[in-house]
Amino acid sequence: MTTEPAGPGGASVACRCCGSARVTLRGTRHSQFLARDFDFWHCAACDFMFVEPFSGYAIYNEAYYRGRGPDPFVDYESEYRDYRATDRMLEFDDLWRVATGFIADNTPEGPVEWLDFGCGAGGLLKYLADRREFRSGGNARPLRLTGHDVGTYADRLRRDDGFRILGPDELASEPGGSYDVISLVEVVEHLEFPDPVFSLAARLLKPGGLLLVTTGNVASLVPRLKGLDYGYIMPEVHVGYFTPRALRIIYARHGLRPVRFRYDGAVRFKVVKTLRTAGRQRLARLAMRLPFVVRAIDGLFGTSRMPCATKPR
Ligand SMILES: [Zn+2]
Repeated sequence: MTTEPAGPGGASVACRCCGSARVTLRGTRHSQFLARDFDFWHCAACDFMFVEPFSGYAIYNEAYYRGRGPDPFVDYESEYRDYRATDRMLEFDDLWRVATGFIADNTPEGPVEWLDFGCGAGGLLKYLADRREFRSGGNARPLRLTGHDVGTYADRLRRDDGFRILGPDELASEPGGSYDVISLVEVVEHLEFPDPVFSLAARLLKPGGLLLVTTGNVASLVPRLKGLDYGYIMPEVHVGYFTPRALRIIYARHGLRPVRFRYDGAVRFKVVKTLRTAGRQRLARLAMRLPFVVRAIDGLFGTSRMPCATKPR
């Protein structure tokens, strides 16, 4: 017989991803922003790590959008105004390469329906809108874009930029098999309960379509060495942490098959965005012109080890 672990106040703690009671406390960290302690629980059943208590979604306010919340690297306004002037271009070019390559090989011709789930300030949507189409097998395949998010930037993208932005209820009532690509770019670590989002994405994906997921890999070398002091650990906003195994388990639960890609620009973007001075960023950009430097960094942070997924036909 197993004893259910007791959380704060003696309440039992269950995995927020799979519901299992096989969770153990990995550690506790004080966080300055909300000036309180957070517990980190690891699930032996699904390898997911989650933060207690969950700080709620109200933390995503105007201060957060300006980088004055728990994540100083956030800058929604610059991205909203001109995504091309931000370092995210490195990431967008890479995601475009990965997704269009996969879709050209795996879905029939015709328009490509792309849902950016958690579209935030809309940088990726605008990037895709500017691309308009891509060529596959001699055909021009137009892109049809949908975003999903809530908050002031979602409203602006809908109202001022004319994007099709769906709220939670509208998205939930979309027909199954609607999308060739569903991107979840640095989204899943923010979700209190990630499983329903993967379930919805699996339903909305077309057979042969691509679920393009990016999130930190806490099983890689640097996070393992740094533990809870790892810079990516921001318990107010990064409330769930994944590993390649955790993603494979969650994909399997929803009938998805893992697919791996070798990232390049996405790796370079992650390095550049965490360097605060222009001098360091210049140096990093220069060093990362050498492919083996990018490969080495990718190895340390395990970016390309995190699988995306496809829906089998
Ligand atoms: Zn679990």
